[in-house]
Amino acid sequence: MKSVLPMPHVTLVTLSGLRVVSKPLLELGMTLPGLRRRAGALSELPSLGLLTLAGLNPPEWSCSYYEPSRYRDELLEKILAENPTLVAISALTASIEQAYRLSDALRKRKVPVVLGGLHVTSCPDEAAQHCNAVVIGEGEPVWQTILEDARQSRLQQYYKADAPFDLGQAPIPRYDLLGDRLRQRMTLQTERGCPFACEFCGASRLLGKFREKPINQIQRELVALTTHAPKPWLELADDNTFAGQRDPQELFDVLATAEARYFTEADWRIGENPAILSGLAASGCVQVLIGIESLEFRYPGMGTKQAELKRMLAAIEAIQNTGVAVNGCMIVGAEGETVQSLDRLVEFLLHSPLAEVQITLQTPFPGTTLYNRLQREGRLIEDRGWPYYNLFDVTYYPDRMTVEELEAGYYEVIKKVFSVEATARREKIRKQIWRRHPRFRS
Ligand code: SF4
Repeated sequence: MKSVLPMPHVTLVTLSGLRVVSKPLLELGMTLPGLRRRAGALSELPSLGLLTLAGLNPPEWSCSYYEPSRYRDELLEKILAENPTLVAISALTASIEQAYRLSDALRKRKVPVVLGGLHVTSCPDEAAQHCNAVVIGEGEPVWQTILEDARQSRLQQYYKADAPFDLGQAPIPRYDLLGDRLRQRMTLQTERGCPFACEFCGASRLLGKFREKPINQIQRELVALTTHAPKPWLELADDNTFAGQRDPQELFDVLATAEARYFTEADWRIGENPAILSGLAASGCVQVLIGIESLEFRYPGMGTKQAELKRMLAAIEAIQNTGVAVNGCMIVGAEGETVQSLDRLVEFLLHSPLAEVQITLQTPFPGTTLYNRLQREGRLIEDRGWPYYNLFDVTYYPDRMTVEELEAGYYEVIKKVFSVEATARREKIRKQIWRRHPRFRS
């Protein structure tokens, strides 16, 4: 007689939310309205990666989805009660230890676990000590094999696709797993990776070469997304939108049909591209994050993104003139940074035309060229483990400051640039810019 396998179930878990170890900074963040707002928005973003994998589940598989910020016993019990065939966990570097804790606890209770994401892609052997299987790189090409292997109790230790995933074959993400509560923000991906290779960034390497998603696929996903959440606020899950070769108007046309307002990340060169400037706002873009990175240092790998500050600011002004606010992204602690240069950064940001700013500490995420270089140079702080790799804690020895000077300097930068007055000033700039925006005008 043929044995009948029970109906399989996969539980998806993403460890989400911002993390900070430094107590003074954590306390300061709680009191600064600009930071609080951004942290809240980020923690609301669903894991597009896991929802997309769920879209590939064979029909007989049931599925559940969790977004805890950390390990909790109640979560473990909830998952065990589902009697899952497999639990898939995804986490970034700062939360990976929480993911390992959950994974270890599940395995103790004989539940198979697969781990995936950027961190385990960079550190697969470390991750393999905490789970049954590790996905190295993109999950889509290997997902159905993993499910079948889990069902047949024959999971392999590592899964790695032979070729980059064809984004034209992407499934529709399972937005239904988010339940009925509408999110402040939803995510949509129009491309994967980046053609550049900035030293501190893993976007251009860890998930394979740069690819654009075909327009008709974006359209299908937008229809599904807007059915779940009409007229949404979108955060494009792209690393550098418009960095490819496609006609931007094709993307604008499809985005405009969703009647969404969207945020995205791009590089300053879009401010010199008339085809982008003429269609960006009308397509619903309200804010774009642009990496200025540092006033002191130009990172290797920046390619044609490398430019004088004056030219970048002219491009940013051109973008803001169209009604789209620019969030200027700065990295503190680059090579050459000193206590005095941090003062100059504050002066620049307090008087700049930027409608918003994001200031993070240089963080050598594993898998990046920066991490490898600092490791080679013996400059990683050994007793600061993965929870410190969160963009807000110092993890390496700076070249021209002590660790304490960088910590204190970063604290002062944040305190001044996100003060009530400075935040109000940027809010005023944003309002002036958005008065020019076709969506807000009407
Ligand atoms: S341009 Fe942006 S996304 Fe591309 S490699 Fe540099 S930092 Fe990463």
